[in-house]
Amino acid sequence: MSEVFDPSQFSNEPLPDIGEWEDWQEDVPTPLEAGTYDAIISEQRDVKQLSNGYLQATLDFRAIGGLHDGRSVATFVRVTNQPKPFGNKASQMTDILRGAGLDGAAPQSNADYVRLLKLVADQQMRIGTRMEWRAFCTPCFDAKAAELTGATAGDAARAALKLNKAHDKEARAAGTKATNMKKFLELSGGRPTYSCAECGGEVQARAEIRNFFKAS
Ligand SMILES: [Zn+2]
Repeated sequence: MSEVFDPSQFSNEPLPDIGEWEDWQEDVPTPLEAGTYDAIISEQRDVKQLSNGYLQATLDFRAIGGLHDGRSVATFVRVTNQPKPFGNKASQMTDILRGAGLDGAAPQSNADYVRLLKLVADQQMRIGTRMEWRAFCTPCFDAKAAELTGATAGDAARAALKLNKAHDKEARAAGTKATNMKKFLELSGGRPTYSCAECGGEVQARAEIRNFFKAS
């Protein structure tokens, strides 16, 4: 039976206009779509002790392996070692360590945490990440704040909001336009922007890591 793809049936003559392969990675859409990626800590930007005694680290994450190897997943990602739940957030620092496979004894001090985070970063240990895009519309937030507090000026409304947790939450929800990449139509300076359906304003979107887990 003859092969369909049989090179011996075709000429070995060089084609007239084919040179080097072009840098095809240039054609991959940037930035990455929301989704799950194996990543490494690519930048240790900052780590500090907060007034409540817990740590806050600021890190960048880069995809490793697969089609998206080397591309930025998220930058300026803030994580803490504050036990969860606090507010609506998770204690992601612990999840990073466990995701990287350091699931032995739990760190007992801030120094432990910093030492282990540094190990994960320096050794380029793989961590599973789930990234989502978030766009926060300040005009929509301010409008809801004014509506809830009765204060018209932005600053006064924000100050009044701080006194009422339920209102603060509601205003933040009004400002948060959590959407997928398909709604971010334009790139402005390398960052995706989002046109707010409610106020028409242009909002800059940020990649945020929602969860850390074991790499695939
Ligand atoms: Zn808006």
